[in-house]
Amino acid sequence: KDIVRKEDGPQLEQDYTLGRVLGKGAFGVVRLALDKKTGQMYACKSISKAKLISPEDVEDVRREVDILNLVSPHHTVAGLKSVYEDRNAVHIVMELCVGGELFERIVSKGTFSEADAARFFRSMVEMVAHLHALGVMHRDIKPENFLLTDETDAANLKACDFGLSDFFKPDQRVSALIGSAYYVAPEVLRRSYGPECDIWSLGVVLYILLSGMPPFWGDDEKAIFTSILRGNLDFATPPWPQISQPAKDLVRTILNFDTKQRATADQILQHPWLREHGVAPDKPL
Ligand code: ADP
Ligand code: MG
Repeated sequence: KDIVRKEDGPQLEQDYTLGRVLGKGAFGVVRLALDKKTGQMYACKSISKAKLISPEDVEDVRREVDILNLVSPHHTVAGLKSVYEDRNAVHIVMELCVGGELFERIVSKGTFSEADAARFFRSMVEMVAHLHALGVMHRDIKPENFLLTDETDAANLKACDFGLSDFFKPDQRVSALIGSAYYVAPEVLRRSYGPECDIWSLGVVLYILLSGMPPFWGDDEKAIFTSILRGNLDFATPPWPQISQPAKDLVRTILNFDTKQRATADQILQHPWLREHGVAPDKPL
């Protein structure tokens, strides 16, 4: 019956006071949590056991907790603080990010400078490099799964959702078709892939950060998938003519069909556009 901890172990309510709802996911709800001892605020994701129907659902929760534990602490991850379990739920207490989703920031700001885009993108690539070095692939890289640490323009980005992540072995190919339509890599659609699928999704995010538009789109999932498998990159429509050559060069290097040719996370971090004080222009697009 226990999933990640003894049900009759230490209880969440003894250590934390729960506050307002921060967000909702497929299996549970994320709330503010106040550490009674230190007065520090955290986020608590509570996964309702009533929603865990199959043994696979239970295994998924275990894996999410294991992976979050493995990848914490890191400056690009909303890190794990502690885990509780009671009769009704598994509670994951993690670092709080109050600046909202990167997705909302993209929508509300409308325009980023290339320098701003590069700063956010560097953090996402560092996250993926960190995961891949630990043998974990994320499989759901998209702006909704990155949160800002505060409301300011200087906020940092942190990854919050490892619900679709899994361990990988070198040269092992997996076939599970998961992810989100706009961001999914062509080799995932062909059901034979490895950690390079995260790099492709990063490329889609970069294209969106620079132009506000997804590179591959359609009216429904099928049309989006067709567009991905065609792989045409539009650099003709505004604002692309105004965007720097190194930025376009990086997008092309990442959105490469050939997973062996596709840049790795470590290689992307060495790209001139992205290096600290890189060549990304600091003017609004
Ligand atoms: P799911 O796996 O069900 O998609 P998420 O882990 O993505 O759940 O969390 C759902 C939502 O809760 C997020 O989109 C975000 O708005 C909010 N949230 C999650 N983690 C945090 C956090 N550490 N700090 C603040 N808000 C969070
Ligand atoms: Mg999510």
